[in-house]
Amino acid sequence: MEKILYLAHTQAGGTLPKVAFEILNAAVEISRNLAGSNLTVGLLGEQIDAAANSIAGCGALKFFGVTGSEFAVSRYASDAAALEALARKSGATLILAPATSRFSRAMPGVAHRLNGRIDTHVSGLKVTNGSLEIQRWYYRQRMMATLTRATRPWILLIDSGIFQPWSGAPGSAAVESVAVQLSPNYLKTRVLGVEAASGDAETIRPDAKLLFVAGAGWTKKQSDGQTHVKEAEQLILNFLNCTQASLGSSKSLVDQGSEGEAVLSFLSHLNQVGQTGSTPRHPKGLATCCHGEEPHVVGWRFINERRAVNLDPNCGWAQGKADVLYVADAFRVIEKINELLSKN
Ligand SMILES: Cc1cc2nc3c(=O)[nH]c(=O)nc-3n(C[C@H](O)[C@H](O)[C@H](O)COP(=O)(O)OP(=O)(O)OC[C@H]3O[C@@H](n4cnc5c(N)ncnc54)[C@H](O)[C@@H]3O)c2cc1C
Repeated sequence: MEKILYLAHTQAGGTLPKVAFEILNAAVEISRNLAGSNLTVGLLGEQIDAAANSIAGCGALKFFGVTGSEFAVSRYASDAAALEALARKSGATLILAPATSRFSRAMPGVAHRLNGRIDTHVSGLKVTNGSLEIQRWYYRQRMMATLTRATRPWILLIDSGIFQPWSGAPGSAAVESVAVQLSPNYLKTRVLGVEAASGDAETIRPDAKLLFVAGAGWTKKQSDGQTHVKEAEQLILNFLNCTQASLGSSKSLVDQGSEGEAVLSFLSHLNQVGQTGSTPRHPKGLATCCHGEEPHVVGWRFINERRAVNLDPNCGWAQGKADVLYVADAFRVIEKINELLSKN
């Protein structure tokens, strides 16, 4: 009989992030499908009452919590101690947690302390013949494996965008507090603050409905024999402001900065989509001035509806990689779209 522990941490304001609700949905479903299993919730944060109440109706047998000002911030030593305590208290055989940066840092160490096993970037879960199977990608998103493990506890860090968020009525959860003693050694790392990108620089928006990809064509010589990088910047920023789309890029475009060529000032390697970049999840994607080569398109694996604008009718997108290819000048297309959007 599996004892399932669902773990989550609070975000600023004491609530749970969206990904925590998604993974809760997965945990509830798995516990329903694994005969004889039960579900326990473990929460971590400075204060967790609001978070616990928001998921009070999830059907968990028990709620455990580690709270206090030391657990307000992400710090490996204190987080690992807290998560280990929650795991031991619950006696869990399966531990499901969202792959936030906070958990991704601390959970591998927790797995080692528990003498368990961990799989990260889990992208699918299902119960087959009474046992849990997971899916994850290998070799830079090129090979997908379905696997199971006999070792317990088995810890799963599950990526966002795979499950619908759990939704249920809030209530009043009775949380049992788990005490964690932190010696000064655990608090050596001090978190002074968070430096986040602001304003126009915030171009990566994981929850956006649309992924807008800029390719190297935006900085290449155009039909008049000139480059138009400043115009490209303005068109792309206007488009992003109007649509609140997330900005992705090809590798060629982000690499140009280090090669001394003209670049779009708001792009960094964090925007890169593809085999050596990210694999974002958005319902729709629009590629512009991007050739659609395989190492780039492999990062579009989870984009449901794909469209591209390219001058070249034989570009990679035309080879079955896009649902619609507009053979057109992206400068003119985006200019026209911005004009139409600004009227709304
Ligand atoms: C091991 C390895 C890993 C890699 N990993 C990645 C990765 O993670 N991500 C990635 O992106 N690439 C990756 N690459 C590189 C990849 O193979 C391509 O070189 C890259 O994606 C090309 O970028 P691009 O399409 O923007 O540029 P280009 O190939 O230069 O294409 C520019 C396109 O713009 C079009 N264009 C120009 N002007 C206009 C206009 N006015 N309107 C419309 N279209 C226009 C042109 O027709 C052309 O198709 C990797 C390569 C290797 C070998």
